[in-house]
Amino acid sequence: MRTRVLVAGMAAMIALPLAWQTLAARQATAVSLVVRNGVIITVDGSRRILNPGSIAINGSDIVAIDTPANIAARYQAADTIEATGKVVMPGLINTHTHAAMVMYRGLGNDLALMDWLQKYIFPAEARTVSPEFVRVGTRLALLEMIQSGTTLYADMYYFEEEVARVTKAAGLRGVLGQTVIEFPVPDAKTPADALQRTEAFAREFANDELITPSVAPHAVYTLDAKTLTAVRDLARRLNIPIQIHLAETSAETGLSQERHKMRPVAMLDSLKFWAPVTIAAHAVWISPEEITLLKQRNVGVSNNPESNMKLASGTAPVMGYRKAGVPVGIGTDGAASNNDLDMFEAMRQAAFQQKLITMDPTAISAPEALEMATIGGARVVGQQARVGSLEPGKRADLIVVGLSKARQVPLFDPVAQIVYSSRGDDVETTIVNGKVLMRDRKVLTLDEARVLSDARAAAALVRKAVQ
Ligand SMILES: [Zn+2]
Repeated sequence: MRTRVLVAGMAAMIALPLAWQTLAARQATAVSLVVRNGVIITVDGSRRILNPGSIAINGSDIVAIDTPANIAARYQAADTIEATGKVVMPGLINTHTHAAMVMYRGLGNDLALMDWLQKYIFPAEARTVSPEFVRVGTRLALLEMIQSGTTLYADMYYFEEEVARVTKAAGLRGVLGQTVIEFPVPDAKTPADALQRTEAFAREFANDELITPSVAPHAVYTLDAKTLTAVRDLARRLNIPIQIHLAETSAETGLSQERHKMRPVAMLDSLKFWAPVTIAAHAVWISPEEITLLKQRNVGVSNNPESNMKLASGTAPVMGYRKAGVPVGIGTDGAASNNDLDMFEAMRQAAFQQKLITMDPTAISAPEALEMATIGGARVVGQQARVGSLEPGKRADLIVVGLSKARQVPLFDPVAQIVYSSRGDDVETTIVNGKVLMRDRKVLTLDEARVLSDARAAAALVRKAVQ
């Protein structure tokens, strides 16, 4: 009898907390993922930093950002990522690259742009680029980007529908530009072929969640007015972004003067070339008047400091762009002129380069560099409403960055630590559109060993091509 009372009493004691738990669970909203207890750098309008904070994600979207206690009370997550002692921040946006060119990494170094292009890159591409080569190269680039925290990239290359297919399969976001150039290239005998390919590609990926098809006329020195006008018409008709190399070198300005009797910006403006989203890559040799014009024409600029330094192309007038309100993002350019796709390094060099050129250490502060690599890049590619910062209602494109390396200790200012001491290798987890692509350094959407061995095998083609 006594035993029975005791057992009943114990059952009542257990039942009460269970009932409370059930009630709490009923009040909590079910979400797919919570990233918990990190230093959250939001890069929102008020540069809010939560230390610590948690983020609730459901499906593709950020649902809430709040204190760990509030998120734990309000949301029940199917999956949780621990971020204690780590930074949680928006994924980095690479506004200019040629992903598959990782296959030419380390080929023909220490040359000026025109020499490098004419002697190495254009001939190597003519002999090696094929759909399979582009798939192999792009997968290698995607692996590097996921491992180093890039969640969106703007690309200009050949067989762009193949780039799109492997990008989508790996889960990254891309603004992917089909190249149009005047001489015969592996995926198009004529610019008209390239325009046709662009249209088919744009239709295949219209309204895709991850892929934004785009057209990429190479530059004013490799295209005539007729083709540039046709590019403009196609971009407007399909409502797709244009990406173009613009005023990258002083040699380009000379060639443009010779060929079109105008500087590059004036030449394009004379054609009313600009689309609702135009991404001007490099935009180094630009006058103050041209900055004003680019602002009026709603053109965004990709600043590519490492490529511009390595090829000694010059320094983009980034301070002038920012003052005029021209959106500026940061790009790595292709790995053949960088030689990697690490956006942390590009972000740091973007800050240092402006400090040096202006002889002003306050030029491009750490928060400003971080903004250019995230929300600034989103503005350049026309996607600021959905990515580029951590805010409820935006897509969940974010990374978790470890802070435990010797070079990251001690910690006074998380933003300075990210911009000035961290590297791509410090990224532990990469999430795009709410999907975890890399978790604790393990890439989940690509077979890492296979990607590397395929790339090594394909490099034999490149070796043969440049012999
Ligand atoms: Zn480029």
